[in-house]
Amino acid sequence: MRDFFKKFMYGRYGTDSLSGAMYVATIVIFTIGILFQSTVIYALAFAVFVLSLLRSLSKNLPQRRMENAEYIKISGKVKRYIKSRIYRISHAKEYKYLRCPKCHTDLRVPRGKGKITLTCPCCKNRFDGKS
Ligand SMILES: [Zn+2]
Repeated sequence: MRDFFKKFMYGRYGTDSLSGAMYVATIVIFTIGILFQSTVIYALAFAVFVLSLLRSLSKNLPQRRMENAEYIKISGKVKRYIKSRIYRISHAKEYKYLRCPKCHTDLRVPRGKGKITLTCPCCKNRFDGKS
């Protein structure tokens, strides 16, 4: 049995972080389906599950690696964004964020300093703000 599975999976892609995320998404969507008793949501969970299974069994390795690399890139951006938002919320009493009107970069300034003139480190634009 073990040899059969080994032979069957030879040359196939297997699992990666994207398929792992898809399996987690299947469980989450299925749980939502249980809460709402919706066959459409069950069907969606099943579709995500089948898609992740097909990815794992695929023999088109370069395409699967490309999809996984794209997933890692996007999920990294999302994780960094969420981390930065959590940091901002946890330090909201100490710092305020002002956006540069020219290049839209967020600048962190200490709170309670009154009206201040800022110089953007990216574009060197000078603008006034209230901290
Ligand atoms: Zn700027």
